[in-house]
Amino acid sequence: MELTEFDSVRSRTEHEEQERLSPCAVLSSQSRGRRLPEQPSPVRTEFSRDRDRILHSKAFRRLKYKTQVFFSPAGDHYRTRLSHTLEVAQIARTIARALRLNEDLTEAIALGHDVGHAPFGHAGEQALDALCAGGFVHSQQSLRVVDLLERDGAGLNLTWEVRDGIAYHSKHQESVSQPLVSATGTLEGAVVRMSDAIAYLNADIDDAVRAGLIALDDVPATAVRALGREHGERIDTMVNGIIHASWGIAQGSPDARVAMEQPLLDATDALREFMFSRVYKHPSVEREAEKARMVVSQLYAYFDENEDELENEMRREGGPDWTVCDYISGMTDRYATRAFERLFTPRPWTY
Ligand code: MG
Repeated sequence: MELTEFDSVRSRTEHEEQERLSPCAVLSSQSRGRRLPEQPSPVRTEFSRDRDRILHSKAFRRLKYKTQVFFSPAGDHYRTRLSHTLEVAQIARTIARALRLNEDLTEAIALGHDVGHAPFGHAGEQALDALCAGGFVHSQQSLRVVDLLERDGAGLNLTWEVRDGIAYHSKHQESVSQPLVSATGTLEGAVVRMSDAIAYLNADIDDAVRAGLIALDDVPATAVRALGREHGERIDTMVNGIIHASWGIAQGSPDARVAMEQPLLDATDALREFMFSRVYKHPSVEREAEKARMVVSQLYAYFDENEDELENEMRREGGPDWTVCDYISGMTDRYATRAFERLFTPRPWTY
């Protein structure tokens, strides 16, 4: 393929995708497109544009101050939702590359998957779910953020495939072995969904050891035998196990699925049960979660009564129709804590 014009960089990349990727992969040139059609970029493919838009969004930057298990930790080595997102992207890209899937699409879905997450992780999500009309699920909120709330209501106008991957990345999973492709979903989306579970489980073990809630020796022996003892070792075993069990994708077989070998799935599920009983339901974690639910509920009640006080930025003329649920779920842990202090704790009198 003879290409000399600057204009052709994108076509060259699209051509390389056709040559290199599995027939099961989504080619960027064959995207179902955007809600509002746009001129193609001379350089970037549609999916790499989407990845860049997410990376440059405000919701993405707020992930830095949103946490999952340990709220606003003082220690600098704990994960935040931002580092979690980057870990998911790394794991998902490794798997996508090995299976000859579209890495740009995979990365875009991974970077966007949690942008709608509530403050205080799942405690915040539970509180909002009980309060918001129609409930609250962070994956659906992530879609709302990229579609409606970013860029003062213009949204990011992402491609169908990235939006689909974000919307279906988690559906109240009981086990990592639940079916991984939605009726219309892409394999790239399924890779992100699996990578999300690998990233948070292993990160949470690491952080729980750091927090002194568990010792590495507490991890069930069956899981250690199957997956390895160290953090990197476990991730490596899980990633390799997925690549091995999903190898049909790399070979282009039409019914290939993203899967994990059964013994590894069992070990991963055992690890998940261990984390629930020893960490996620630990009294000291539960105590903080209770406070977080209370903060979110109080803020909700306050702003529901005083909608005119939603930040000016969110009430801009012609901007999106922000709901109280959008406003509170968009808060970081520290923003929510400060708002709570400002509204509900007496201020020292100064004059
Ligand atoms: Mg996640």
